Amino acid sequence: MATHFPTEYIDALLKRVDMMQVMSENGIEVRTGSSDNNFYIASFCCGKTDFDNGRIKKSTQTYKCMSCFVGGNAIHFMQNVVGKSFPEAVIELARMIGLELPYEDPAEIEKRQRKEKALKLAAEFYSTQTNYEYMLSRGISEEVLVRHKVGYAPGGRTLRNHLEKFGYVKQELLDYKLINSKGLDSFFYRSIVPVYMYGKVIDLYGRAVNDEKVGIKHFYLNGQDILGGFDLINPNALVLLFEAAIDRLVAESHGIDNGVDPGGSQKFTASHAKQLKKKGVSKVMIIYDGDSSGREGAMKSGLLLAQEGIQVWIGELPDKQDAANMLQEYGKEAFVETLNRPKTFEQFKLYYELAKYSLSDIEQYLIDMKSKLSVSKLRE
Ligand SMILES: [Zn+2]
Repeated sequence: MATHFPTEYIDALLKRVDMMQVMSENGIEVRTGSSDNNFYIASFCCGKTDFDNGRIKKSTQTYKCMSCFVGGNAIHFMQNVVGKSFPEAVIELARMIGLELPYEDPAEIEKRQRKEKALKLAAEFYSTQTNYEYMLSRGISEEVLVRHKVGYAPGGRTLRNHLEKFGYVKQELLDYKLINSKGLDSFFYRSIVPVYMYGKVIDLYGRAVNDEKVGIKHFYLNGQDILGGFDLINPNALVLLFEAAIDRLVAESHGIDNGVDPGGSQKFTASHAKQLKKKGVSKVMIIYDGDSSGREGAMKSGLLLAQEGIQVWIGELPDKQDAANMLQEYGKEAFVETLNRPKTFEQFKLYYELAKYSLSDIEQYLIDMKSKLSVSKLRE
């Protein structure tokens, strides 16, 4: 089965797909419009029940929710809403429009396998560099670092030299983004956290060990469609969903384990929710940062998880706190105390919505509701 598709093939596919068909075949109600727009019910992103927000642009066959601006093309829909992987999405769409799948050259297969091997070798190489100073200073224990194969990137040409011993050439390493145009390792002066999914290294996360020396604090090789910690979780226990790798690793160092992280509060996708479901996860507590982006991310992630029938709780952190900082500043007891009062996702949604209104409006609403109740009581 082809798992790699040339750009021209994808372009041809997207030109021919019918977004109305793609959505309706996946249980989303659609309606034909008269101008350039067709409509759909934005149930999957905003829980809407009418056609007011979902727009399908006929000329581009893309969709967009006018309430939360979630949208994209048919492949994005299959990935983010239906929960397919990229190749699965392409194969399904090709079937829908009767487009033959491209033949995958054995040379291409080999090329892909070489890349996978390079990432694995890179992760293994970094894990042998045990400059743990930064990670230890963040409160992550050595045991946890070893368990997650965390390492260090010394920079220069150390990784390049190592991979060249295995027959890799400069152009390949450039293509994999492991080295930059100067021929130097892309990762330098960084703690490296490899992301394993289904036994494969699918990404590398590099955390700058000295914020002043390196412009970008967080550097991912790819940064998309990853769920750090995924391979090591026990699906039968409560799974903790953190924003970032550091939060997850600090928590685990304090004995609060079974965590995963998508690498950012806005990065959790429908595909992640499906993968957790597929692994047998039934309970998730979201512990994102105590800021607006964290709350917004918790809303989005919670909706996606709930759609999979996963029970969701939100462990809210105090304002401006993240899991890592809170654990380090206030200790495990204070952190656990906060998480002992999690909101169910339903409660969280209610509070999230109410926060958009003024207190006086809410008070007036309560007064009105109470008077309605007393009127109906009088009538009984
Ligand atoms: Zn929406």
